[in-house]
Amino acid sequence: MRFGVHMPLKGGFETNIKRVKEIGCRTIQIFPGNPTGWKMGKLDEAEIESRSQLINTTDLQPLVVHCAYLINLATNNAEFLVKSKQLLNETMQRAALYGAPYVVLHTGNHGGDGHEKGLTQIIESISEGLPGWPDAVQLLLENTAGSGTALGSDYAELGEILQAFPAGKLGVCIDTAHSWAAGYDFGSSEGIEKSLGELDQAVGLENLKVIHVNDTKVKLGSRVDRHAHLGEGNISLEGFATLVNFGWPEDFPFILETPDNGTEWDKINIDKLTALVR
Ligand SMILES: [Zn+2]
Ligand SMILES: [Zn+2]
Repeated sequence: MRFGVHMPLKGGFETNIKRVKEIGCRTIQIFPGNPTGWKMGKLDEAEIESRSQLINTTDLQPLVVHCAYLINLATNNAEFLVKSKQLLNETMQRAALYGAPYVVLHTGNHGGDGHEKGLTQIIESISEGLPGWPDAVQLLLENTAGSGTALGSDYAELGEILQAFPAGKLGVCIDTAHSWAAGYDFGSSEGIEKSLGELDQAVGLENLKVIHVNDTKVKLGSRVDRHAHLGEGNISLEGFATLVNFGWPEDFPFILETPDNGTEWDKINIDKLTALVR
């Protein structure tokens, strides 16, 4: 297993890479640009080249790219859909330049038009984009907490999307805090076994490529997306201990998206996670 954190934009790329290496990270997640805007921001090739070299030499693998939050392939706003598809395509291209094998995307919000229409539109949008995406980069759908009109809080919905494509084309990223909010109990051995069993049924565990390890103080099934430091929420260190010792492939990535990202909290959470490995 490899543990890592989501890297903040603040502070500069090189400084942040050095910092995460120092605190013991062996994998990393980054934003490709501004996470809250439609424009990714320009980066010249030399800059991307030096960044990807730095990631290679520091052996932060896999490099995971997290899409901007605005991208919504299930939107009922025609203009947003065009922009979403465009920004997703740009993100996939930039991930390839970085040498990142994975791009994580929130499944989407149907905005009131219903689950079926939303899921159909997501499948159509991915079908449209896929032929133009780099082969070396795989799109991973992240499960959601299920607040509002969010799709993909039910693992079966992730499965519905994956099954529309040839095996191995898409994968999933599971967030423990989102799962908990959606009613999947990651706080106990029985709960984890049941949840991962359901995930296996829905998408196949071989398609699970990244886990976001976040604790949460919200109630099980409350559909509220709020992350907490490990051991300070309801999933608890006992839950995370079961999870990390489940029997994952050697280099399987666990990424922290806990509060106060970019501060000394990153090291505290990485240390807690590392201490759980038996
Ligand atoms: Zn996310
Ligand atoms: Zn997440």
